[in-house]
Amino acid sequence: MKDSYGRTIDYMRISITDRCNLRCKYCMPDGVPMVPMSDILSLEEIVQIASCGAKLGIHNIKVTGGEPLVRKGCASLIRELKAIPGIECVTLTTNGLLLEACLQDLLAAGLDGVNISLDTLNSERYDAITGTDGLATVKRAIDLAASASLPVKLNCVSLDWDETFAGDSQSADGSWRGMVEFARNHPVDVRFIEMMPIGYGRQFKSLNHQELLENMKRLYPDLTADSGSHGPGPAVYYRIPGFQGSIGLISAIHGKFCENCNRVRLTAQGYLKTCLCYEDGADLRAVLRNGTGGQVLEEELTSAIRQAILKKPNAHCFERPEEMTEQHSMVMIGG
Ligand code: SAM
Ligand code: SF4
Repeated sequence: MKDSYGRTIDYMRISITDRCNLRCKYCMPDGVPMVPMSDILSLEEIVQIASCGAKLGIHNIKVTGGEPLVRKGCASLIRELKAIPGIECVTLTTNGLLLEACLQDLLAAGLDGVNISLDTLNSERYDAITGTDGLATVKRAIDLAASASLPVKLNCVSLDWDETFAGDSQSADGSWRGMVEFARNHPVDVRFIEMMPIGYGRQFKSLNHQELLENMKRLYPDLTADSGSHGPGPAVYYRIPGFQGSIGLISAIHGKFCENCNRVRLTAQGYLKTCLCYEDGADLRAVLRNGTGGQVLEEELTSAIRQAILKKPNAHCFERPEEMTEQHSMVMIGG
């Protein structure tokens, strides 16, 4: 459906858990408050909401978290989401640590692609960012997923490496250059994401993507815009001759893309968020659990989603942080 600014909303990010097996410094360095499982949507409730979304024109779903693969039943949820009439594409965002163990189930469930979060190829820096010695495991998972012909995108937050790790040895593999080089011999999209001032992310300095692009052009003078299709999303892609993968820039701050925003976000506790910056949205868990059941419930849910989408804000206000009303951390929102 269209929102009140004429934007087509066809993409829903669904967080299926607040919990995670990593402690990324910019996301949840101290873990998250323990929420009883009864406060978290059941997998059946998630499917109910997605089905109502599909009736309103949601075609693409991203399963996220917390770390979605720590939730039991993630693969069977994906199978059920894929079976909803109108849903065309279901993908997953994961830190990759449990991917190898789950890969066959996810492939069998019909997963259409995977985004793997990886901010650095330097193992010391990886440990410092995530609190875990897991780089080799994640790299193996990337190779396995790519060799199973699953489309793979890497998500790399654009930390200002040298400021964040002042004092350690500045090896090329630990910087954005290492991540770009990864695309030389791997058929994956390496996407840089400007750090957004949400939760702990406020404490970190992001690279400015206009400067990053200039620096990439200096290092790779043959870099050209990539007009190929990379799925629904705000990334702008580039190609470097001889590289197997592409480079993507997601520039929420220095390349604001709100006029083309196509998404809403469902939190693990069932709140439908319509913009990263604001608390606006709808408590779908309340609608589900207070509802009367059957057909009436479906209409109430669909109507609550429609009303929330119609009130979707025009644009984020990251450049004016005093106007932000979102108080949750990224792990509770799902990225
Ligand atoms: N655990 C999964 C993962 O790491 O991919 C899924 C959830 S995580 C919250 C989703 C994405 O949000 C990750 O790629 C992470 O790097 C990114 N992220 C977290 N905090 C962020 C921030 N403040 N700004 C931009 N991206 C952020
Ligand atoms: Fe966990 Fe993903 Fe947040 Fe890292 S970014 S702490 S992997 S939810």
